Amino acid sequence: MIPYGRQDINQSDIDAVIDTLTSDWLTQGPKVPEFEAAITEICDVEHAVALSNATAALHISCLALDVGENDIVWTSPISFVASANCALYCGATVDFVDIDQSTGNMCIKALERKLIGAKHVGLLPKVVIPVHLAGQSCDMESIYKLSLRFGFKIIEDASHAIGAMYKETQVGSCQYSDITVFSFHPVKIITTAEGGCATTKSPELAKTLRQLRSHGITGNPSELEHDAHGPWYYEQQRLGFNYRMTDLQAALGVSQLTRLTRFIERRNQLAKYYQTKLTQLPCQHLAQSKDVWSAYHLFIVLLENSAQQKAIIQHLRNNGVIAHLHYIPIYKQPYYQKLGFPSDYCPNAESYYARAITLPLHPNLTESEIDYIVEQLEACI
Ligand SMILES: *Cc1c(COP(=O)(O)O)cnc(C)c1O
Repeated sequence: MIPYGRQDINQSDIDAVIDTLTSDWLTQGPKVPEFEAAITEICDVEHAVALSNATAALHISCLALDVGENDIVWTSPISFVASANCALYCGATVDFVDIDQSTGNMCIKALERKLIGAKHVGLLPKVVIPVHLAGQSCDMESIYKLSLRFGFKIIEDASHAIGAMYKETQVGSCQYSDITVFSFHPVKIITTAEGGCATTKSPELAKTLRQLRSHGITGNPSELEHDAHGPWYYEQQRLGFNYRMTDLQAALGVSQLTRLTRFIERRNQLAKYYQTKLTQLPCQHLAQSKDVWSAYHLFIVLLENSAQQKAIIQHLRNNGVIAHLHYIPIYKQPYYQKLGFPSDYCPNAESYYARAITLPLHPNLTESEIDYIVEQLEACI
């Protein structure tokens, strides 16, 4: 079986986890700050807050930006459900901006049109969450300019994109956003088993995120509202959660990050190999903007003939290749249908969903496995 994605775990990763397992701190020890420092370095950003997963990161990022009842959050329909669910956790309303079919990312023109319409009726979003599909950054400068014109905040869902670049900036630097969120689930670029992170340039947002991840509690003397009762004293100042990452996870993360550049170079190399092999077939690889260096979390192709999609994915699976489809438009999920979204809400997302196939891509995939995958694809097309 060739999985669509898979983690790379080596002896250094194993040793790092065992060292922490036999240390004094399994959680709330030195490894989490060490992991956060490594992320700030890689992303060229002031603050990183490690969290239990990216879903938690999206949730408290919305809260930190004051998303609540009566607020509206917009995201992309071609994403994992967590990008939309986070708004609902806060009691807000969620809506979807259609994608650009060639990249699968949020369409800037559709966003602008929707913002103009929303302004007319006084229903502008408080937060927009662009999703960097497959590891390719959205056109963040354009989204940022629209945010200044229409007054919304930006959370980048970069679950697919740690180590990626956009116009000379690292994804996660928050050059064009308030907060960037990463996932370290095993299928993503690096892993901490479960795990996530939020990065920001803002010290205030970082402080709020840190409080929200740990019950709303602080023990920092400079942050206390009352006089300390004694050396044991801490304060709960808001309603938070237990969204902490453990030191075991962070130790794995620190070790994984040392191979981030290698992982992404290999992913890009394999994606290029796929592209040269696929030139003769009636399918296109997702268009890549000249402004980006993708992390290539996923290798997605779009078929010219959508009638073949299901048979091709089935054929590949019957022959040991776990082809997949990222993603079912979120508004098509039964839960979102019950919220009242039409089942064909975004035309470009519909067309994308009818034609997309995710082919396997991970750092330990080999060129000969790609030869086999393309042979199987060819046999079926
Ligand atoms: C994986 C993923 C998430 C959720 O990540 P977890 O760490 O599993 O919570 C959110 N958004 C996108 C786009 C993802 O791919």
